[in-house]
Amino acid sequence: MSHIYSSLKAFAYGDRLAVIGQGRVPAPVHVRIKPTNVCNHACYFCAYRKPDLSLGSGMVERDRIPREKMREIVEDLIAMGIAAVTFSGGGEPLIYPFIGETVERLGAAGLRLGMLTNGSRLLGKTAQMIAPHMTWVRVSIDGWDGPSYARYRGVEMDAFATVIENLSAFVRLAPRCTVGASIIVDADNAPHLFDLARTLKDAGVAQVKVSPCILHDDGAANNAYHRPLAATVAAELASCRELEDGRFTIVDHYHDSDESYDKPYHRCAMTNLLTVIGADCRVYTCQDKAYTDSGCLGSVREIRFRDFWRSPELAQRLAALDPAAHCRHHCVADAKNRMLDDFLRLDPAHAPFV
Ligand code: SF4
Repeated sequence: MSHIYSSLKAFAYGDRLAVIGQGRVPAPVHVRIKPTNVCNHACYFCAYRKPDLSLGSGMVERDRIPREKMREIVEDLIAMGIAAVTFSGGGEPLIYPFIGETVERLGAAGLRLGMLTNGSRLLGKTAQMIAPHMTWVRVSIDGWDGPSYARYRGVEMDAFATVIENLSAFVRLAPRCTVGASIIVDADNAPHLFDLARTLKDAGVAQVKVSPCILHDDGAANNAYHRPLAATVAAELASCRELEDGRFTIVDHYHDSDESYDKPYHRCAMTNLLTVIGADCRVYTCQDKAYTDSGCLGSVREIRFRDFWRSPELAQRLAALDPAAHCRHHCVADAKNRMLDDFLRLDPAHAPFV
């Protein structure tokens, strides 16, 4: 049976890896776009808004990519042969007023499209415009009923029911799209994971991904927070797995945070394959460094993305990035970078000895 999560996806792009191996910069395979930093929810754990988390420390909440710049970026991504685009926050991508036309243009050109959303605006004309083009949509959700959802997000009591209705309708509207949900586990919702997973399954969601809430930059502090929850979460996940069948799966990403951020490699291969365009029109190395000075590769406000990506300045900036020295924090791509570094350092004369 095929699956959709793997750390090995980069190895499907041997042509790009060969270019990196030659010390050059290929076109990325995948671009994450943060169209806007505006959000209609106020989640207490939002990594972009928690002042004690370094992620998003330089984010300006009113920023959004101007319409003409977005059109230009879309043209460039198509011309460059980018394979996939994910829309995410910063803010809520479905609040971006030009999201429908952006998705339609990219989808008509054959790019694979994904979106991380809170689901509150996954309805009406926008839902109809994006539905035929999305490979996946994942809705973040944490409360298990109206009152709990309202507490988590600072929204009205009926917001939970609206999101569940939106999900249910979108599943019918987009039968080829993998509609999933992401539950961020904390002390409040840990005893309610089964209830929430069952509600999501009843709404037609195909996958529920379960991950720990990150409340601290420090991995040891996160682990100390989650340790008392571990038995409850394990029992709830065991019940959740009983919901699994041919059309519904649980993806268990609830695990300890790394307590050491040592990285034994000196190049970030993943930054060549996946890059991030922020709502401030700056390009960042990755999700973990979005809206930080140390992750900023430059701005595309005054130049086209394709010209920026081909520029000697970008090549120099990527070559100067040493994860062992500059990324002493959580890295979403660490496992992938370890494998890619091992692969890219392989002596070609010895590769045939599989
Ligand atoms: S945090 Fe990870 S993905 Fe981001 S630049 Fe550093 S090594 Fe690369």
